[in-house]
Amino acid sequence: MLTLALSKGRIYKETLPLLKAAGIEPLDDPETCRKLILETTNPNVRLIIVRASDVPTYVEYGGADIGVAGKDVLLEHPNAELYEPIDLKIAQCKLMTAGRENEAEITGRLKVATKFVESTRRFYADKGQQVDIIKLYGSMELAPLVGLADRIVDVVDTGNTLRANGLIPMEHIADISSRLVVNKASMKMKHAQIQKFIEQVRWAVEERNND
Ligand code: AMP
Repeated sequence: MLTLALSKGRIYKETLPLLKAAGIEPLDDPETCRKLILETTNPNVRLIIVRASDVPTYVEYGGADIGVAGKDVLLEHPNAELYEPIDLKIAQCKLMTAGRENEAEITGRLKVATKFVESTRRFYADKGQQVDIIKLYGSMELAPLVGLADRIVDVVDTGNTLRANGLIPMEHIADISSRLVVNKASMKMKHAQIQKFIEQVRWAVEERNND
């Protein structure tokens, strides 16, 4: 049995056609049913539905053999023991700093609110800038508007969310897309099955990008 960990929403929707190319179609829709384990048209493959930020943990510790995780999430798990064989080139966006369009002069240490603490710490450390990082779990755009922080670090796609809140993107930290990740022991123990799956998905990614 091969277990694949996916999160609901954007990643799930964009991964489905790639799974289909590998002959795998879920028998239920996680958006409408409450099941967390979904059987598929391949009796040897099942999907588990987990939070996006939990995918690396499930795969690293063998709760799943394979997962699909955003690079933003993987960057927050820098020591995870995982293989990352394919850039699926889905759910693409950028990790950026952002701040108020018309901000007053900032005195003292910069306060940065984010849920991407590890990437933020590394970004400012590489610049040699000392900052105070404030961990949030969502609605980061609010932080500069109410004086909680001077900057946020968040994923940006169109930039509409920032603009709607009077913020502008400032510095580019990383290009983000979703990656296939594989448990290291599974790669050895289920080598033939996983290798075949990887080749099918790789082919599907290339085909889609040639269209
Ligand atoms: P946008 O307004 O198009 O810049 O989208 C920004 C918001 O959508 C962010 O605050 C994120 O919550 C979410 N978002 C956009 N793209 C992604 C992505 N690839 N992965 C995760 N969240 C995303």
